Amino acid sequence: MAYELPPLPYPQDALAPHIDARTMDFHYGKHHAAYVANLNKALEGHPAIAAKPIEQVLREIGTVPAQIRQAVINHGGGHYHHTFFWRIMGPKKGGQPKGPVADEITKAFGSFDAFKDQFTRAAMGRFGSGWAWLCIGPEGKLHICDTLNQDSPVSNGHTPLLTVDVWEHAYYLQYQNRRADWVAAWWDLVNWDAVADLYAAAKK
Ligand code: MN
Repeated sequence: MAYELPPLPYPQDALAPHIDARTMDFHYGKHHAAYVANLNKALEGHPAIAAKPIEQVLREIGTVPAQIRQAVINHGGGHYHHTFFWRIMGPKKGGQPKGPVADEITKAFGSFDAFKDQFTRAAMGRFGSGWAWLCIGPEGKLHICDTLNQDSPVSNGHTPLLTVDVWEHAYYLQYQNRRADWVAAWWDLVNWDAVADLYAAAKK
């Protein structure tokens, strides 16, 4: 059973002007698709691993045979992170969270604005390629972190609630080197209802 590129939850041009259709066509149709293809290639001959949800494989990354482990981190992470990323965005979103996740963000960071500043700093401070995250840590508290390449926070026992892709492939066609403009635009795409659902599922 091979992994498959999941459908985008919205049309390719739905996130314009923040993500234009051409950027989405490359990002989803080429980059994400390549992670799926390369993950399947890496797992040829390993059907027991390929039968598991990719999040579980990354959570248990230490059990993946050493000779394919880095390929699974790279391509499995790429597949899982992009699937997650599409889910936490949407057209006409942004604004602020509501309900329990909003209360938890205020409790952890002092205010929504303080959270937003700290998350943006993590996204801007990630040197090279990677992601910034809001996660629930293994001890149950909210954390902001940033990760290199496709290293996954789930491999460290974290449960992701929100992420922004700061690989150049996420923004270069549209924003060139202006990562700050990309991250500022991305806030207007955050689907806080999806984040609230992820938070509720994690707290069950
Ligand atoms: Mn990407």
